[in-house]
Amino acid sequence: MTAPLPFDNSYARLPERFYARIAPNRVSAPRLIKVNRALALDLGLDPDWLESPEGVDFLAGHAMPDGAEPIAQAYAGHQFGQFVPQLGDGRAMLVGEVIDRHGVRRDIQLKGSGPTPFSRRGDGRAALGPVLREYIVSEAMAALGIPTTRTLAAATTGETVVREAFLPGAVLARVASSHVRVGTFQYFAARKDAEAIRTLADHVIDRHYPEARDAALPARALLEGVVDRQADLIAAWLLVGFIHGVMNTDNMSIAGETIDYGPCAFLDVFDPSKVFSSIDQFGRYAYGAQPSIGLWNLTRFAETLLPLLDDDQDKAVAIAQESLTRFGPRFEAAFHAGLRRKAGLTTAEEGDVELVRALLDAMTENQADYTLVFRYLADAALGAAHDEPVRRLFVDPTVFDRWAVRWRERTGREAVTAEDRRILMRAANPAFIPRNHRIEAVIRAAMDRNDFKPFETLLQVLSRPFDDQPEHAAYADPPALTEQVLATFCGT
Ligand code: AMP
Ligand code: MG
Repeated sequence: MTAPLPFDNSYARLPERFYARIAPNRVSAPRLIKVNRALALDLGLDPDWLESPEGVDFLAGHAMPDGAEPIAQAYAGHQFGQFVPQLGDGRAMLVGEVIDRHGVRRDIQLKGSGPTPFSRRGDGRAALGPVLREYIVSEAMAALGIPTTRTLAAATTGETVVREAFLPGAVLARVASSHVRVGTFQYFAARKDAEAIRTLADHVIDRHYPEARDAALPARALLEGVVDRQADLIAAWLLVGFIHGVMNTDNMSIAGETIDYGPCAFLDVFDPSKVFSSIDQFGRYAYGAQPSIGLWNLTRFAETLLPLLDDDQDKAVAIAQESLTRFGPRFEAAFHAGLRRKAGLTTAEEGDVELVRALLDAMTENQADYTLVFRYLADAALGAAHDEPVRRLFVDPTVFDRWAVRWRERTGREAVTAEDRRILMRAANPAFIPRNHRIEAVIRAAMDRNDFKPFETLLQVLSRPFDDQPEHAAYADPPALTEQVLATFCGT
């Protein structure tokens, strides 16, 4: 076979203790669900080949093309606060890296492709439902402009996976800037393997933070780079109402991308204490807890870098602590700027954040839908005659009316036309997010009726989240009472 995927595998050139080499797992009946053709082209891959029988065998993890060097990466992690010294890719394999059209190195990983030396008691497989969920949400995040792993393709395997029921098996081809996690550093730190930490730090500096190479203390520049990207990322999550659901340190990317779409969900009604994940009993990863958990995870990352920061332990700790203090201000700056954009404020005044917070509080008290309030508020920028759609979202619309008086006082002090403000607000406030009930409906149709049309339609709608799509207007709606999704589940 000629090499249809021009792999260049830098991770497989790292020391052998960074991963385990693995062989493809034969599956009974690989079948394509979908290739993300636009992404394939962006990666410099041939979408027609990916859709060919050979391509589908590859996407299902059944057979590897030339140049693939399948490995399962080693990592550790804090899961719900408990340190597990060995996790690793238990149901995924990194098949290789390609250089995309913009010169960026990107991993191609198959998730759900069968057991590896890191599978522990798991079967290494993924079920169709979580694969469709990850495809939809990761691509929706990309369209919303949020750093994320992407989905290149999904395929079914013909195998049955046993979970709470017998489910169709599937594989997701995931694309990431890299799959190095906070937990990858923790794996070596737990083994007191300072040499591996140094090698790994060099690898990620070359790959993600080349500017850190020239810093006085590259490890510090690396830490600060990761802090900044995570602060920005988590701010972006909050601004669209995203709840990751399992912010374990093994699910925090060093490159600053959203990774590992398990029991993630988007808010409907605005509620900072909201948790969907069925395994998050104490709300550790609630919507509003994400910034503080982000900092907690970054502190674990900083600990792994101590040997590189200074030979003197106390000095190393002082450097790490100082670097971590960036997180709060960086997060706030990104979050507050985003809140201003959402509310259509083009200048910064004291009291702005308090003003937007008052709206958020009113949403919580009045069961108002987060996404729709801001989307309709854009129309209200044209004047109070356009308030009805947004005010109706509040149980007590007069609460909105009172807030709107303050808002208009504030916006009235800016030299921005109503039309321009509306345009700016519509660009900051999506109409379409991957609502939980829509995802559930897609999964049900695929599983119960082998009908993937709803999947295709939802993907298409979510690829243009900021455009009105009158023919799909219903996709912007929150769930009816009977459609509400109360809990989401891990894919495991
Ligand atoms: P996750 O909750 O998806 O972030 O996974 C946490 C850890 O459990 C990782 O080491 C995974 O590789 C492993 N894991 C999850 N599901 C499975 C499975 N079905 N088989 C083997 N390992 C798994
Ligand atoms: Mg994970």
